[in-house]
Amino acid sequence: MMLTNIRRLILCGVLLSSGAVSLAHADTVPVLVIHGGAGVIRKGMTPEREKTVRAALKEALEAGYKLLQEGKPATDAVEASVQVLEDNPEFNAGRGAVFTHSGQNEMDAAIMDGATLRVGAVAGVKHVKNPIALARAVMDHSPHVFLIGDGAEEFAKTQGIELVDASWFRTERRWQQLQEALKKDRLKQEKDPDTHHGTVGAVALDRDGHLAAATSTGGLTDKLWGRVGDSPIPGAGTYANEGCAMSGTGWGEYYIRTVAAHEICMRVTMMGQPLDQAAEQVINKEIPHLGGDGGAILVDAKGNIAMPFNTDGMYRAWIGRDGVTHVAILKDDVR
Ligand code: ASP
Repeated sequence: MMLTNIRRLILCGVLLSSGAVSLAHADTVPVLVIHGGAGVIRKGMTPEREKTVRAALKEALEAGYKLLQEGKPATDAVEASVQVLEDNPEFNAGRGAVFTHSGQNEMDAAIMDGATLRVGAVAGVKHVKNPIALARAVMDHSPHVFLIGDGAEEFAKTQGIELVDASWFRTERRWQQLQEALKKDRLKQEKDPDTHHGTVGAVALDRDGHLAAATSTGGLTDKLWGRVGDSPIPGAGTYANEGCAMSGTGWGEYYIRTVAAHEICMRVTMMGQPLDQAAEQVINKEIPHLGGDGGAILVDAKGNIAMPFNTDGMYRAWIGRDGVTHVAILKDDVR
């Protein structure tokens, strides 16, 4: 107990001296960043699809930002944005989730409140329309942090969370991606040049200066044996504390091995490293060095944003301190 308090004091001191956290709350300018996944995007992109995806990102961004403007907590904003993306079949989360090796949709999600370090996570759910809503219920209304499979769905029933038939999640595009993947040898673990990381996520800074992160995914196409990726694992694909919040997208095994989100946020909050440098180091150096790939979105307590990725593109949208809406897909494409 005493150790915990000492750690908190040290953390507080580092945060304040590094400028990662300011004491001036209550009138913080809100910031929201969302992503719809990183991966090979150019291949298979049509002008119509690009238009649809850009509109979907904007809609999701606006749904969350509206709440921040009303003074609602960052947790509400990230949940709202992620729900909109889960309902859109263009993304690999909720409706439109990728298929497992055995032809099912098994979804993972997590939400984390940076102010309190509370987390809710679910994995391997097959009938929950909005896995992020269930993750939020786990955080708010269960004595646990992480629920999986049938048990998570049992809990969903007690919370009035909407369950749907498995066919709700099926899209022809994802089914064809599975058929393509089945022609390759999954067990070889080789880097697939056509990998699509369509996971969705959001990070937010609210008016009170608090941060939150949320991520939701169908995981990887052709995943095996109840595989769980980084997205629902606190500290791997999703993390938030008082000074930093991250949602990742990419080859999850590498995000788990590097404990990517926690690693970046610790660099920022404990070591005083600037957000973009810390993110660049882990996402664009450490993970590719090990053989992985992907991207991430991050925000710190001052409203600085980082969006590193090492893939062809990353669907992303944000409203920073300037209050201007941006939507981007490829590296140099900012509108
Ligand atoms: N990170 C996710 C996973 O490994 C996949 C993705 O981002 O698309 O489950």
